[in-house]
Amino acid sequence: SGKFFVGGNWKCNGTKDSITKLVSDLNSAKLETDVDVVVSPPFVYLDQVTASLTSRIEVSAQNSWIGKGGAFTGEISVEQLKDIGCKWVILGHSERRHIIGEDDQFIGKKAAYALNEGLGVIACIGELLEEREAGKTFDVCFRQLKAFADVVPSWDNIVIAYEPVWAIGTGKVATPQQAQEVHVAVHDWLKKNVSEEVASKTRIIYGGSVNGSNCAELAKQEDIDGFLVGGASLKGPEFATIVNSVT
Ligand code: 13P
Repeated sequence: SGKFFVGGNWKCNGTKDSITKLVSDLNSAKLETDVDVVVSPPFVYLDQVTASLTSRIEVSAQNSWIGKGGAFTGEISVEQLKDIGCKWVILGHSERRHIIGEDDQFIGKKAAYALNEGLGVIACIGELLEEREAGKTFDVCFRQLKAFADVVPSWDNIVIAYEPVWAIGTGKVATPQQAQEVHVAVHDWLKKNVSEEVASKTRIIYGGSVNGSNCAELAKQEDIDGFLVGGASLKGPEFATIVNSVT
């Protein structure tokens, strides 16, 4: 449902030089036109990347502050992101949930604020390995979804990223069936708890060890509307292959 969406989450990687090279590879890549493409550099390179991308690729931040800027040392506000031309923000990424300690409510508030100010939100959800093994995958994903649904003003500008934590950076990609099963459940949850329209319009993308070799099989799944790519997004040609896996 919706246009295929591929995001590259560069996480805390890169230098001025490596990012200059990556942007130049992206600028010369041939990308399918029927795909929304977004890259998410570390804050300090956002301006450089926004200014040097020559294609229609949009730029996302990896985090944003919960409200208006001010005396919040170390934080970056939504207004500042908009000021430099950033269109999106990734919120609820598992690394921020589980390493930094952000909770559902905090993430929900950030999402509501960013959406109200006009940024698009890539809203991440996903279970830990022990949660999957305990049969709690849906419970966890629905709880995280509900924390967004309870507060967001509208779903027009949200892309949901299902990223099982055990698949992130591990090389253990979810099977197309495993991913499809959760994507269907998320669509159903939206239908029951938000609306039929939102369920049919909202894109659900998959993240976790997506690469140039496994993307095609995943992209064939009915309910997989794109990808959020970590490691493989640091290589321009491989990222282009993933973008072009649109079916
Ligand atoms: P990897 O593609 O490196 O597993 O990371 C996925 C991810 O966390 C994207 O946000």
